[in-house]
Amino acid sequence: MTAHLTPEVRGLLSADALGWLDKPPLDPFIDGNWRTARSDTHIEVVDPGTGTPVTSYTAASAGDVADAVAAARAAFDDGRWSELDPETREEKLRHLADLLAADAETVAQLEALDTGKTLAEARLDIDEAVAVLRYYAGWATKVEGSVIPAPRRYMATGTREAIGVCAAITPWNYPLPILMYKLAPALAFGNTFVAKPSEQTVLSTAYLAQLCAAAGIPDGVVNVAPGAGATGAALTATPGIDKIAFTGSTRTGQAVMRAAADTLTKVSLELGGKSPQLVFADADLDAAIAGVMAGIWTNAGQVCIAGSRLIVDRRIHDEFVAELADRTRRLSLGHGLAPTTTLGPLISSTQRDRVNALIEQAAQDGAHVETAAELPDRDGYFIAPTIVTGARPGQSIEREEVFGPVLTVLPFDTEDEAVRLANDSAYGLASAVWSQNASRVHRVARRLRAGTVWANTYGVFHPTLPFGGVKASGFGRELGSDAVEHYTELKTTVIDL
Ligand code: ADP
Repeated sequence: MTAHLTPEVRGLLSADALGWLDKPPLDPFIDGNWRTARSDTHIEVVDPGTGTPVTSYTAASAGDVADAVAAARAAFDDGRWSELDPETREEKLRHLADLLAADAETVAQLEALDTGKTLAEARLDIDEAVAVLRYYAGWATKVEGSVIPAPRRYMATGTREAIGVCAAITPWNYPLPILMYKLAPALAFGNTFVAKPSEQTVLSTAYLAQLCAAAGIPDGVVNVAPGAGATGAALTATPGIDKIAFTGSTRTGQAVMRAAADTLTKVSLELGGKSPQLVFADADLDAAIAGVMAGIWTNAGQVCIAGSRLIVDRRIHDEFVAELADRTRRLSLGHGLAPTTTLGPLISSTQRDRVNALIEQAAQDGAHVETAAELPDRDGYFIAPTIVTGARPGQSIEREEVFGPVLTVLPFDTEDEAVRLANDSAYGLASAVWSQNASRVHRVARRLRAGTVWANTYGVFHPTLPFGGVKASGFGRELGSDAVEHYTELKTTVIDL
């Protein structure tokens, strides 16, 4: 089927991306083949920058999901992947990374089209996915076991083995990096895999499945079941999965965990956030403004780590907010693929309406709502970057994860009050402290209840840096060496000498 692109968007895509969109492989990918989905749920792939459906696919049914899990199970049980020499797995994963790197521009364009994010952001996403894959490819040969000091008559060892079938349920904001945080360590340690991408962003996952086949990853090791919540729910209910890694909303994470209780499947959950950025008067204010902007306007605020609560020293509050608003006015809203765009649309009309409702509620609750930057005069799901001042702690705009370009500002008078406001949230994903006083940075960092604290920077991700949350932001860490624990089982072997 030829993609239905507007002339503008057609002109912004490369011949390779257009060629791929002519016949995108969006069927379920099971045991190395694309199989016609056995369901009558058809889902449109919509370009958020124009609001037009680009193409469509049929969602994987519960039966398709069961087939995908069975394929992954069989591939695990016969050892076609887990029993390869680790260096062979490393080689194949590096080959996959090289193929992805070679097609990075095409995948970035497809990701920008699918998510609405700017092409510059999409390029960083694909680079990150490649880096994460290379990092974990190296881990395949690095995991060691231990000799355990059991009583002398025994020889006891602890060895790390693959868990089995790992499933991933991923969201629409960073489709490929978030998939890679799960797929790369799972495969490196010998597990097999079933991916359920967000129904709204299936393109890059489909592209990766093709590359897995091209890289010589054996059939059945990576399987993809595209679809919406029903497909995800079917996956969590299917027996034969050993671990589910979920990234998404707190509410869906709770549903995944409940379903996993029935099958006694391990889960890791990376959920929502309402991350505070604490700006003290002794900060480098220029850098802090840049960091606050990056923290909230990146990906149009649709980021689990969005620094959506600015907590700023009252003495600099007005000046800081004025400068922030000034610089925000220079952002240029438009289609993600257009080279001049610095802020793209939201993913869907539903998300745009939800964010607008939260902004309206904030105004009704008596907060001051300032719209910085112009809405573009075009179709698409745009929200102007919005700064909310004068909100009371506890108001919905200050509590709820907005997942849009909306920054709530709260003033503080003392360090204690700043920390108290920061921790007064159901979430605990990320946080930041801006101060040039090193003692203060350490003191505050120690007291912030969050999985990550950035100091004098924001949003630094790297394959070596563990990432995850506390409280309603979930549990388990992705990235870094922690993945060894999350994607392997420890086996104790005791030999009577
Ligand atoms: P959002 O749409 O805000 O990202 P969700 O948490 O609903 O938040 O979506 C994250 C992922 O979870 C998506 O892939 C979605 O399809 C999937 N999903 C939605 N509902 C369920 C469910 N009941 N069980 C499993 N996965 C689900």
